[in-house]
Amino acid sequence: MADTKTKCAHPSCECMIEKGGKYGKYCSEYCKEKGDQIELRCECRCPACH
Ligand SMILES: [Zn+2]
Ligand SMILES: [Zn+2]
Repeated sequence: MADTKTKCAHPSCECMIEKGGKYGKYCSEYCKEKGDQIELRCECRCPACH
């Protein structure tokens, strides 16, 4: 099957997201805003990041 999932573009975020999601290459509004900053850990509150 075609791979329709990709990792969130935030460097510290481990979330897998569906392509074409509402936040583009990010999993959430948080990552979309913080995506260009290097942070120690993602705090977008998704299960994969805890
Ligand atoms: Zn995350
Ligand atoms: Zn994310």
